[in-house]
Amino acid sequence: MQLTVLGTAAQMPTARRNHNAYFLKWEKSGFLIDPGEGVQRQMIYAGIRPSAVTHILISHFHGDHCFGLPGLLQKLAAAKPKIKIPLLYPADGEKIFRHLLGAAALQSEEFLQAVPINQEPFRLQAGSLQIEAQFLNHRVPALGYRINKAAVWHICPKKIAAAGLTGSLIGKLKLTGKLDYNGKSFHLADYAVLGKPIAFAAILDTRPCDAAERLLQNAHLALLECTYLPEEQALAENYKHLTVSEARALCENNHVNNSVLTHFSQRYDTLESFEKILKDSLCNFILADDLDRISIQEKTGELFLQKAERK
Ligand SMILES: [Zn+2]
Ligand SMILES: [Zn+2]
Repeated sequence: MQLTVLGTAAQMPTARRNHNAYFLKWEKSGFLIDPGEGVQRQMIYAGIRPSAVTHILISHFHGDHCFGLPGLLQKLAAAKPKIKIPLLYPADGEKIFRHLLGAAALQSEEFLQAVPINQEPFRLQAGSLQIEAQFLNHRVPALGYRINKAAVWHICPKKIAAAGLTGSLIGKLKLTGKLDYNGKSFHLADYAVLGKPIAFAAILDTRPCDAAERLLQNAHLALLECTYLPEEQALAENYKHLTVSEARALCENNHVNNSVLTHFSQRYDTLESFEKILKDSLCNFILADDLDRISIQEKTGELFLQKAERK
């Protein structure tokens, strides 16, 4: 899986940070999470083609997470999508959603499938992946998302070669778990190892809550808002955001392997104080900059961070 960070600013964009927007490429799907203002140009800088977007996930309808939707839809329309693109959002934001769709002369019905979410648990299949959504604790209804990939079998080449199985026979064995061939019975577990399920979680704009904990549980990669330093605890509680200490605790308590922190308040010129608080954690934290690209090697769990250069 590969996450491209398109914007990292809370509330208002700055000279260095665009409004929120994230793109997760995983298997054959491309999830655009929270199209904040400026998402079209950020996609160009990051080299993301509109045709790569197969799903749009909106966490909530505060401006820093959705002002870029009309522009994004125009961009997608120009690419003439051959499939309907599901757009997931909190159902309570229906009125704002319709305003955004009507913000310009744009025919989005042809390629957009609106998926308002008002009950839990919510699940939607996306090819071999499954999207899960739950309501977080923010000032307006806000969804956290988790994308799951079920455990898959990894064939041991030596064992399977010794058994004399090739091509479509291996495919059949993987599919059914058992194969009768040449008077013998073959069981998949004797020739393959079952990997672990893999998950990505996106927790944007929330206080710590049970839903965030559930969505983060054992995630290989998580994206979390991290608006304030602990000194601003009162603001975090008032505006319903996370401090960096709370984001750290959420990830550690739920055994998250890698966490990308984002959505920084514009009051901070540097993130040095955030870095200090994240030191010596078992979870691998990345304080995101716009256009960072984070890849996870699924078999080994290894993480690669690529700092993108602005073209
Ligand atoms: Zn926000
Ligand atoms: Zn918000």
